[in-house]
Amino acid sequence: MLVEIRRATLRVLQTSGVSRLVADSRWRRQRLLILCYHGVSRQDEHLWRPNLYMKPDFLRQRLEMLQRGKYNVLPLGKALELLRAGELPPRSVVITFDDGMCDFYSCAYPLLKSCGFPVTVYQTTYYSDYQRPVFNLICSYMLWKRRGTVLNNGGELGLRQPLDLRTEASREEIVLQLMSRAEADHLNGADRDALAVRLASALGFDYQELLRNRLLHVMSPSEISELALAGVDFQLHAHRHRTPMDEASFRREIQENRQRLQSMTNSEAVHFCYPSGEYCSDFLPWLKAESVVSATTCNPGLVTTRTHPLLLPRFVDTSARSAIEFEGWLAGVGPLLAFKRYVPAGR
Ligand SMILES: [Zn+2]
Repeated sequence: MLVEIRRATLRVLQTSGVSRLVADSRWRRQRLLILCYHGVSRQDEHLWRPNLYMKPDFLRQRLEMLQRGKYNVLPLGKALELLRAGELPPRSVVITFDDGMCDFYSCAYPLLKSCGFPVTVYQTTYYSDYQRPVFNLICSYMLWKRRGTVLNNGGELGLRQPLDLRTEASREEIVLQLMSRAEADHLNGADRDALAVRLASALGFDYQELLRNRLLHVMSPSEISELALAGVDFQLHAHRHRTPMDEASFRREIQENRQRLQSMTNSEAVHFCYPSGEYCSDFLPWLKAESVVSATTCNPGLVTTRTHPLLLPRFVDTSARSAIEFEGWLAGVGPLLAFKRYVPAGR
């Protein structure tokens, strides 16, 4: 109901010309909108995780809206400098992609390139070096592909029986059991992948086919190098996509991520994005000590000169967001209406 009222209000603001007035206002000119994207489907990933994946055509339509509305899409670092100097151009927007999955290379980047839009990729690097599917994602995906069934052959994987794959909650519970087991047994990437192979076998799933398609893989070092040369901005997202609560481990995540990116891109990453949007105040001095100059969250909002540079809000765009909602956010009227905090599902 609230969503409908919100959409109706945005529609009225748009048709009455108020949205355009706000978009061109001095108020909006003092604000920066940072867009957040995750993945673009190569197959049916948007049906599995609509909060993370969208169809290529959906992204193309979003980029066309940016072009039609004459939005100024800026590189992240440049936009933050201009904001601080009070020199942002009208209707400023930054585009960011989290994780750096290989669908960015094959699906998203060609679309961005054809529009001439700059983009920042917050790149996690462990699974870039280790070219296998991301463990928790591939387990979740395979269970989803077998949704609607109940299996009794999960005992050998140490899972509670039976494996009820009929609801999202029960499938998520199985993923949590697998992840807890991997943590408790200190499994490395290869061991986790072996566990995923055994899960595939229990589900009657062709794992080799997934590998051939590179489904749910992170971009390889050579893909990252190639895109960096072409002008894509790669920034920090933690080496293992996690934010440990002790300073040494947290900072090691940043250091390893930065070192790996440096070797692939030949430049030093100084912007960070909190994995899964999770952050706490303890992280701020640790990021400062690592000379990180900005950090983005998944909290909705526009950036102003008063925003803490290590707590920059973003608009997380998903398949569930309507065109009217998206355009409302571009113009600047979207944030004026109440929105819930976005909680990414599983990544
Ligand atoms: Zn992420």
